[in-house]
Amino acid sequence: MRLLLAEDDAMIGSALQALLAKDGHAVDWVRDGAAADAALRADSYDLLILDLGLPRMDGLAVLRTLRARKDTTPVIIATARDGVHERVAGLDAGADDYVVKPYDYDELLARIRAQLRRAHGGGRSTWRHGEVEIDPSRHLAMRAGRVVELTAREWAVLLPLVLRAGSVLSREQIEDRLCGWGHSLSSNAVEVYIHGIRKKLGSDCIQNIRGLGYRMAGP
Ligand code: CA
Repeated sequence: MRLLLAEDDAMIGSALQALLAKDGHAVDWVRDGAAADAALRADSYDLLILDLGLPRMDGLAVLRTLRARKDTTPVIIATARDGVHERVAGLDAGADDYVVKPYDYDELLARIRAQLRRAHGGGRSTWRHGEVEIDPSRHLAMRAGRVVELTAREWAVLLPLVLRAGSVLSREQIEDRLCGWGHSLSSNAVEVYIHGIRKKLGSDCIQNIRGLGYRMAGP
């Protein structure tokens, strides 16, 4: 998934970016509110992690501007502002969740997974096809009851396909979710990762729809 992280604290930002990348996400990190606003207008993200105390434009203003455009990107506010009044204001402005610093990283990652599931899978927790079973929330893939190890990049390709099972994703849409800013991919990277996934999970689990892209096979 492609995430936008708006955080001006360098230590928290770099730690979160590394953790999220390890979880298989492409993360664009911006350090002020105006940059967050610009990024949200220019690109589409699967989720925004939003600090409120940001230079140049307050996080709450970023959120209100986003929702005023009818943009439904899921938003988790992650902030040191812990007053009830602030929580209410954040949720009323259109945030989907609210966590207070200092937060536990594992808890934040679980909340991110929950939002992504809700947004793309309608709460659906696992995907099955023949002998293959995939549980996106636990990053668990099994074939004939045995756990299959996938690389972070393979997960980054597989997750959006599973979460939107039934929909075709183009190569460009998958690439978007693979690379954050500053990372470029070779032109056949998506094909390489799909090939790797098929080798591990079976060649028929991902279908190639000629000229359009890829989708998960039906149940
Ligand atoms: Ca801050």
